[in-house]
Amino acid sequence: MKKIIIANWKMNPASPKEAQRLFESAKSSARNLKKAEVVIAPPFLYLPLLKAGLPRGKAGQVKLAAQDVFWENPPAGGGAFTGEISARMLKNLGVSYVIVGHSERRELGETDELISQKLKAAASGGLRAVLCVGERERVKDSFPTLVRDELKKALKGISRRFASKIIIAYEPVWAVSTGKNARPDTPQDFFEMSIFIRRVILDIWGKSAAFKIPILYGGSVSSKNAAGFLKVKGAAGLLVGKASLNAREFSKILEAVKL
Ligand code: PEP
Repeated sequence: MKKIIIANWKMNPASPKEAQRLFESAKSSARNLKKAEVVIAPPFLYLPLLKAGLPRGKAGQVKLAAQDVFWENPPAGGGAFTGEISARMLKNLGVSYVIVGHSERRELGETDELISQKLKAAASGGLRAVLCVGERERVKDSFPTLVRDELKKALKGISRRFASKIIIAYEPVWAVSTGKNARPDTPQDFFEMSIFIRRVILDIWGKSAAFKIPILYGGSVSSKNAAGFLKVKGAAGLLVGKASLNAREFSKILEAVKL
């Protein structure tokens, strides 16, 4: 199975020119990468620009993701929702993935209920939805209740037929590089957490979905630690924030897929 490497650019870079430069560099680093699908998640504004430069055919392992989506999927694909972007619009543009429930959006007030609706809208709209979950504080040796609750609340009411559209990104908030004392998690902890996540999915959707659901690691990923996380048994890939804004560093992270 191909690894999925997602570059979450957050609210960066500041100009279309820089976005294009960064995208060109990611494309060229991804060119001969057979073992990975590289997914670029720029701000909405740059999606049409980058879409125009997406490689076609066999070299098309670079895909686009949105960083958010509207929580309703109106049958017509649009509606009176000022400022919002629907799953249908993203799909029609050629976007393949969407990040949902990122800790920075939760911090801005996004609730579990809203996240669940967004997941539903994304999956039913044909996008692959990357659900971010993770504890605020490091809770070593204790039951990760928050991760379980975030998963249960987000996936509540989502039919098993959409299971193949959902990806989980385990992203402990304390590990996200923008935090005060941020540090990456360890591959061993990620391994244990991914087993835990599969157990929760088993309760919700059953064995087959629990076994198949892709689980990514995110949180201060760098060229130094990427290979370690990618080698974790069952790891489906990485969600990369800050390091994806540095063309050389991101290229080295992609190199780690070959190791
Ligand atoms: C993120 O915000 O999705 C993320 C993983 O950030 P960073 O890699 O900068 O910790």
